[in-house]
Amino acid sequence: MSSSGKLRVGFIGLGIMGQPMAGHILAAGHPLTVFNRTRARTAGLAERGATVADSPAGVAARAEVIVTMVTDSPDVEQVVAGADGLLEAIRPGAVVVDMSTIAPEVERRLDARLRERGAALVDAPVSGGDVGARNATLAIMAGGETAAFEKARPILETMGASITHCGPVGSGQVAKLCNQILVSVTLLGVCEALAFARANGIDPKTMIRAVEKGAAGSWQLSNLGPRILNGDFDPGFMVDLMQKDLRLVLEAAGLTHAALPASALVQQLFASAQAHGQGREGTQSLAKVVDRLCRPA
Ligand code: NAP
Repeated sequence: MSSSGKLRVGFIGLGIMGQPMAGHILAAGHPLTVFNRTRARTAGLAERGATVADSPAGVAARAEVIVTMVTDSPDVEQVVAGADGLLEAIRPGAVVVDMSTIAPEVERRLDARLRERGAALVDAPVSGGDVGARNATLAIMAGGETAAFEKARPILETMGASITHCGPVGSGQVAKLCNQILVSVTLLGVCEALAFARANGIDPKTMIRAVEKGAAGSWQLSNLGPRILNGDFDPGFMVDLMQKDLRLVLEAAGLTHAALPASALVQQLFASAQAHGQGREGTQSLAKVVDRLCRPA
């Protein structure tokens, strides 16, 4: 705790999500130390008063709560347990809050390593995209021991509109992967309904209006449906990132022999999108894959 009563916070991974999230922590008055692999991305936060460290270990030496927001499981492993990683300088009582979307099992493994040093991990992946990150309205799904979660809570509150403690370490990632099953499988339904409406002579815009307030209503239908019809395939959330998350879903499902046929199907259809160069488009470009299945070339 600093003399102002604020937590000393660290933040690692200043990408699309991490940059605005770290900004909210700083704006709430917490002394902030940041690290980013590409140092140039620290400039904006440094101008606003953040300290820039040379490595994750440099962050760990200064902070009691350390947020990580990097890409995939091996990246979090590197930041925590790699050379110059957090484990090299973590303080007893410190809490690492991993907000990346990664494998639940990796979070459990890293928590065990941190506990050997008297620290702990909270996994806290998010939903809400770059807009949620900018507006501090993220839905945060957390897993971890209660004391560690409570220590992290004031920091999570600077970034999120909804914070749910889902259970022990790894539970936040499980909830996030459920979120990804729901959004991707629902999106496939939306794409099929649009193609079916068009093939059967109904204006798809009218179809959306007719059904969206009833039992078939969804965020995917009301937000991505019109974007598909307007030919807007710019990313809110990229196909490549969704494929990473569906890979995590299917790998975790494999560990418990859970059969998830709809998730496997939508993952294969997104693979076709990637094969057609749509990996950096928004997930709504799944509609192009469905169109290719429905319409002659
Ligand atoms: P991004 O813009 O690509 O940023 C990734 C960040 O991680 C960058 O700062 C990158 O550093 C850093 N990084 C990656 N690998 C690293 C490594 N091995 N060591 C050190 N730093 C590393 O990605 P993002 O969109 O912010 O996403 C971050 C996480 O949030 C992902 O797990 C993603 O699935 C999840 N998420 C994203 C969204 C979204 O809408 N974008 C929504 C919900 C959840 P450099 O600057 O050096 O590349």
